[in-house]
Amino acid sequence: MSFQLPKLSYSYDALEPYIDEATMHLHHEKHHQAYVDNLNKALEKYPELQKKSIEELLKNIHDVPEDIRQVVINHGGGHANHSFFWTIMSPKGGGKPKGELADAINKTFGDFQKFREEFSNKAMAVFGSGWAFLIKTPDGKLQLKRHSFQNSPLMQGNMPILGLDVWEHAYYLKYQNRRVEYIEAFWNVVNWEEANKLLLK
Ligand code: MN
Repeated sequence: MSFQLPKLSYSYDALEPYIDEATMHLHHEKHHQAYVDNLNKALEKYPELQKKSIEELLKNIHDVPEDIRQVVINHGGGHANHSFFWTIMSPKGGGKPKGELADAINKTFGDFQKFREEFSNKAMAVFGSGWAFLIKTPDGKLQLKRHSFQNSPLMQGNMPILGLDVWEHAYYLKYQNRRVEYIEAFWNVVNWEEANKLLLK
């Protein structure tokens, strides 16, 4: 069984005007599909690895044979990051976190506004292609992280709770070089319910 591109739970135009339809098509059907295809190709000669989940592969990245390890980091990471990214956005998103996540954010960052500012700053500070993540550490703490390329938080044993793709392919069609506008728009589509579920996992 090979890895598959997951279906979106909303239509390609559902996140308009914040994330545009053309970007969603390109991002999901071309970029994410390419990560899936390249991951499957790398695993062709290791059938036993094809039975593992992407989470298992990344959490135990040093068990992946050296000749394909970097491909799994890049494309397996790309597959995991994007599969996660689609779920933490929703046309019914935006607003503020509730429940346990709201409490944890207030406790860690002071209040939601401070958190939002710090997350946005992290996303602005990614140099080149990468991601900003809010992660939960193995001992249950929230932290903000910058990750280059497609390096997955799972490789360090962290659980992604919220993440923003700041590769240019994620925003250039609509926002060109104005990453700051893309980051501002993102807050309107954040699926806090899903992020809260991930925290409680
Ligand atoms: Mn992307």
